[in-house]
Order: sequence, then C-alpha cells, then structure tokens
Amino acid sequence: MFGRLFGAKTPILDSLPEVRGKYIENAKLAKHTWFGVGGPAEVLFLPEDADDLRTFLVRKPEEIPVTIIGGGSNLLIRDGGIPGVVIKLDAPAFKKVSFNGTEVTAGAGLRNIDLKKELIAHGTGGLEFVCSVPGRIGGLLRSNAGCFGNTVADVFVKAHIMNGWGNVYETTAEDFNFSYRSSMFPDDWIVLDVTLNGHMAAPEEIKKTMDEQMAYRKKTQPVNQKTAGSTFKNPEGLQAWKLIKESGCAGLKVGGAEVSDKHCNFLINRGKATAEDIEELGEMIIEKVKEKTAITLEWEVRRMGVKK
Ligand SMILES: Cc1cc2nc3c(=O)[nH]c(=O)nc-3n(C[C@H](O)[C@H](O)[C@H](O)COP(=O)(O)OP(=O)(O)OC[C@H]3O[C@@H](n4cnc5c(N)ncnc54)[C@H](O)[C@@H]3O)c2cc1C
Repeated sequence: MFGRLFGAKTPILDSLPEVRGKYIENAKLAKHTWFGVGGPAEVLFLPEDADDLRTFLVRKPEEIPVTIIGGGSNLLIRDGGIPGVVIKLDAPAFKKVSFNGTEVTAGAGLRNIDLKKELIAHGTGGLEFVCSVPGRIGGLLRSNAGCFGNTVADVFVKAHIMNGWGNVYETTAEDFNFSYRSSMFPDDWIVLDVTLNGHMAAPEEIKKTMDEQMAYRKKTQPVNQKTAGSTFKNPEGLQAWKLIKESGCAGLKVGGAEVSDKHCNFLINRGKATAEDIEELGEMIIEKVKEKTAITLEWEVRRMGVKK
C-alpha cells in the first residue's frame, strides 16, 4: 500500500517528479468509468504529451505502482480505489489522427467515436465497427475489441508503445499474439498510438454502415445505462448470455446492481450500486452457471483496485 490514503506515512505526491501535466490527489475514479462506481486513485496523472509521460516513468520511485486507464468502458474499479498512480492519456497530444492512404493512425487517448467524422471525411471504410465500441483507442487495442464480425486484430497494422522505463517501440501484430478479447500485453506497456488499415469507400456508405451498427446496438444493448458491456467472455462455441439466461440469472440483483433485462450478459448499476454489489452479482452468476452447465464463465470486464 502506498501514500496517505492507503495507509503509508507520507503522501506519494511528494515523491513524484515534476511534470508539465497534472497530478490530482485522491481523484474520484467513478466518474472515469462507465459503471460509475469505484474508489479514488491515490494520484491521477494526466500527462501533457509522450515526453512528459516518459519523464514521469523514468523519474518516479520504482516502488510506486502505475495503472493505465482509457475510457473506463471495460473496467470495474473496486470501492477501495487504486493505490499508486493512475495514468489517463487525455491531453490533445494523445488524440491526434493522421491518414496515409487507407491507413489511419489515432492517438491512444482519442475516443473511438471521435474517429467517425474523420473516417467519413477521408472515405476510409472497413473500420466502422471501431467507432461503435465505447472507450478509447488504447483500450481498444489492449482488449482486442471487436463486434459486427471484426476485431482490432483483423485491421491492425502497428502501434507505438512506451514501456515502464520510458522507452518507445513500434510494435506489430506478432508482438501482441492477439486472441479473443485479449493479447499478450505486458502490464507496463502504455499504448501511445495505433495504426489500422481500412479500404477506400464512399463516405455515404461508411456513414450508413456506422448508423446501422449504432442503431443495432441501441436496440439490443443497454447502451444508455451504467454498464461495462459484456461481463463475461463467450466460452468457445457458446454464448455467455444464453448460458446466463438458461441458468435462471435473468433479473438477478445484488444491492443496486442487476442483470440487464435487454442483454443478460450486461450488468447494470441502477444508480446506487457499489463495485462490491456488481462484483458479487458477477460471482453469483459464475456460480449459478457452473452449477447448471458445469461451465465456468471468465470475466471479460477488467477488475482493478482494492476492496473497501
Ligand atoms: C455499452 C457497451 C458496449 C460494449 N460493446 C463492446 C463490443 O461490442 N466489443 C468489445 O470488444 N467491447 C465492448 N465493450 C467493452 C469496451 O468498450 C471495450 O473493451 C473497450 O475497448 C475498452 O476501452 P477503454 O478505453 O474504455 O478501456 P478501459 O476500460 O479504460 O481499459 C481496458 C483495459 O485497457 C487498458 N488500457 C486502456 N488504455 C490503455 C493504453 N493507452 N495503454 C495500455 N493499456 C490501456 C486498461 O489498463 C485496461 O486493462 C462495450 C462496453 C460498453 C459499456
């Protein structure tokens, strides 16, 4: 444990290097996640650009843990918060977009949805699905996000990452060994930008596809609720939502958390849920599905931090 909030004698802020970006002590992380739950970051660091991030990583005391978050759309941050420093790439330097033929390079801090108008303007098709995934480009790569029959791995060209020592590398698909909603991804890697390849397409066709995909989501998923998307990975050849339904978990509740009635692999914070409510509900579902089907569901939502 580190710092004043987490029981150490001195606040960690005093031991952090001078940076151009911003440190926020005891930062509420709930407002950085789609679930809207979770305790504070001991310190939230918003770097100004990649050089600022490097300065921080090179000069920070080695024992202080670092956690990177993106748009928080796949996170369940526990009620006790996250010890150490949480980094979020939110400055304009991390949101740049550039095109080279059919390839687009987007900064890790860019919201996926903000790629929409750029892709339409440049007539770059094949990447519409990216814009419909909540969250940001860094998280998109980390989770090998996918939908509508595509995954990031299918369109991935390269990415720049910074490791825990502040060194920047250009990586290719071989470095990631992509698999379903996952990749070989060392914990200290921070994605700086990602290059994806599409194809030339008519802007009106791209827009039509994007609109259809968003409409489908709205119809089938509780997209306007406090949720983190699919809670559990689909076991090979099976669908998690079906297993959950068949195991009698539709409508299950714990405190302010409940199984969505629109899509039962989505858990919802009805407003006053704690992270503990949501995690307990998830664990209850795992147990019930195992009892009924002998299959153990695996969390797709990433759980972080400490319990209260
Ligand atoms: C309504 C809804 C629908 C969804 N539908 C889909 C879907 O169709 N398909 C799908 O795949 N997912 C879906 N999701 C889940 C989620 O949107 C994706 O996993 C998304 O890619 C997460 O991105 P993020 O920026 O929010 O990352 P976060 O949730 O903030 O973090 C996810 C992981 O990425 C890491 N990370 C974030 N940024 C970086 C970075 N710069 N460098 C290194 N690591 C980083 C974090 O440490 C964490 O491990 C859905 C979620 C919601 C709420």
